[in-house]
Amino acid sequence: MTAEIAELPQIAPAAVEVHDVHKWYGTHRVLDGVDLTVRPGEVTVILGPSGSGKSTLLRVINHLEKPEIGHVSVNGEPIGVRRHGDRLKELSERAILAQRSRIGFVFQNFNLFPHLTVLDNVAAAPVATGKLDKAQARELAHDLLDRVGLADKATAYPRQLSGGQQQRVAIARALALRPGVILFDEPTSALDPELVGEVLAVIKDLARSGTTLVIVTHEIGFAREIADRVVFIDGGKIVEQGPPAEVLDRPRHERTRDFLSKVL
Ligand code: ADP
Ligand code: MG
Repeated sequence: MTAEIAELPQIAPAAVEVHDVHKWYGTHRVLDGVDLTVRPGEVTVILGPSGSGKSTLLRVINHLEKPEIGHVSVNGEPIGVRRHGDRLKELSERAILAQRSRIGFVFQNFNLFPHLTVLDNVAAAPVATGKLDKAQARELAHDLLDRVGLADKATAYPRQLSGGQQQRVAIARALALRPGVILFDEPTSALDPELVGEVLAVIKDLARSGTTLVIVTHEIGFAREIADRVVFIDGGKIVEQGPPAEVLDRPRHERTRDFLSKVL
């Protein structure tokens, strides 16, 4: 291998780059100088106590919230702004929607469209964004439902499915836009315990196939199994991050140890 080729992985832009992000709600500081780099194909698990800013961080990455200070890039492209000479110019709503379509988001409460069939839930976004025509989108949706083990539920409505099945549909829907990264916000915490495993199995399958994932979860065993990197956040700051064997098994900070002792 030539030196040039060996260096390529460093040259490729980060899948997600969060740089010195600060976010306030009124006088309440929710993110306090967060830096985070997610490489393409990497699985990052974010852990932290309730109220520590995990959901806000994901929402900033997806441009559902705008940071007061700092910036975020996805695949090397700044989110929400464009360079204009040496000034930053805010993007139009339309350009923001186009950026957001390159980021998948899976919510705690599934957020499926209740009036659409499972198939149409998955097929809707590629049609709405003009990426595929209706027939192509439906074909893709069938393939994705097959991938999450729900090929036989295409004509059902969300209310006819279990929570675990609904969350698998939500994952298929996130995949339909072929996003560069998928963000998961506590994807199993609204599920009955016996339904958690089927959703984690689908996420594991994505992780193994090289999809870039950022997952907020309290499932420590799952994090140990699939994470390339675990990030512990508390009080809006990253307290420590590293491979699961370090952060989960030999945490350096008292706050991390304290948190792990409560969730394990
Ligand atoms: P986590 O996901 O780690 O539980 P969040 O990011 O949801 O934490 O919230 C972090 C803090 O920000 C909490 O104190 C929460 O109450 C506050 N917060 C979140 N969203 C809003 C909002 N829209 N307006 C005001 N405060 C908010
Ligand atoms: Mg949250």
